[in-house]
Amino acid sequence: MPKQQEIIIVGAGVIGLLTALNLAPEVKHVTVLDRSGLGQESSWAGGGIVSPLYPWRYSPAVTALAHWSQDFYPHLGERLFASTGLDPEVHTTGLYWLDLDDEAEALAWAARQNRPLSVVDMSATYDAVPVLGAGYSRAIYMADVANVRNPRLVKSLQAALRALPNVTLREQCEVGGFIRDGAQVVGVHTAQGELRADQVVLTAGAWSGDLLRTLGVDLPVEPVKGQMILYKCDADFLPAMVLAKGRYAIPRRDGHILIGSTLEHEGYDKTPTLSALESLKASAVELLPALANATPVGHWAGLRPGSPEGIPFIGPLAGFDGLWLNCGHYRNGLVLAPASCQLFADLMLGRAPIIDPAPYDPGARLG
Ligand SMILES: Cc1cc2nc3c(=O)[nH]c(=O)nc-3n(C[C@H](O)[C@H](O)[C@H](O)COP(=O)(O)OP(=O)(O)OC[C@H]3O[C@@H](n4cnc5c(N)ncnc54)[C@H](O)[C@@H]3O)c2cc1C
Repeated sequence: MPKQQEIIIVGAGVIGLLTALNLAPEVKHVTVLDRSGLGQESSWAGGGIVSPLYPWRYSPAVTALAHWSQDFYPHLGERLFASTGLDPEVHTTGLYWLDLDDEAEALAWAARQNRPLSVVDMSATYDAVPVLGAGYSRAIYMADVANVRNPRLVKSLQAALRALPNVTLREQCEVGGFIRDGAQVVGVHTAQGELRADQVVLTAGAWSGDLLRTLGVDLPVEPVKGQMILYKCDADFLPAMVLAKGRYAIPRRDGHILIGSTLEHEGYDKTPTLSALESLKASAVELLPALANATPVGHWAGLRPGSPEGIPFIGPLAGFDGLWLNCGHYRNGLVLAPASCQLFADLMLGRAPIIDPAPYDPGARLG
């Protein structure tokens, strides 16, 4: 692609922001539009585990993106901290899975993938995590799993972009549809008027399906609500992430503990509910009984961009020249972001792709 191209990116979550950061050095201008504040939706609301919750249950397409990203995250964190002074806090604590039904499958997958997942004796697990609730009988552990402080990640991405002379970030700028010139998409309609560009990239998370419907394209991306609660403990309260029965606890470096999450199909409703609060508190106390005496300091909901098998759509949209997708990351958009955005830039810029792009190709998948 020639260097003098102008790009519009619709949606400033982690996917839109990191796509912009990867493209900016290679193009004339990048404009990122968001209808609310930057990075205030799912990318703010997520837990930030730098791994799928049960990685062995996913397709090779998700695994390929996850592994590339996991290896890259420490470097991304250091680079953003050095260039912006804002630390995304990539925190490698390891993750314990407790009392899994499919432990054998998990171990077999890890052996095939060469990932360091191992069985840990239960008494050694209680020694390593003394605050863990009683009664668990089996544990497996992966030492190199990190979590990223995602609200800080999106802040540092914004700061990195603001420092670039050829990037414009526009908040409170809602895109209502696309401007077409025959088969070509040449810009977007916004609440503040038309904006034109050589290429338009859709990174609107859970709202991506709605926007594509304006072109008559049926993209299977839909909102899946997730609620979380937050506690504040001493910094050394919980030394590792723990997960049982689909619920997890994530320690931040400063002692904040996130407990997640619910999985609800409620359309675009993001209202936190009392029933989820009670259910998440019960999970928190089961995992970490000391939290029975603590009061949550936060409770929120976000909308994951749900997609078939959680496989994102990455690449050009066949039949609409100039329109590109990077969306549908479902439960794993934070872990998958670095690889997805690198692959996206490779495709748009005509470079050799980091991994085989075929499984994510919107053209092939939308038929
Ligand atoms: C409770 C919860 C826990 C999670 N935990 C994890 C985890 O531990 N690990 C992990 O990897 N992932 C996790 N996720 C998933 C992850 O947060 C998402 O997959 C990821 O943030 C998606 O990023 P995105 O940029 O595509 O979407 P978003 O962050 O939602 O960004 C989309 C942006 O597009 C904007 N937009 C939408 N429509 C328009 C429009 N018409 N015009 C202009 N702008 C528009 C929105 O305002 C928004 O800012 C979790 C999610 C939730 C909700």
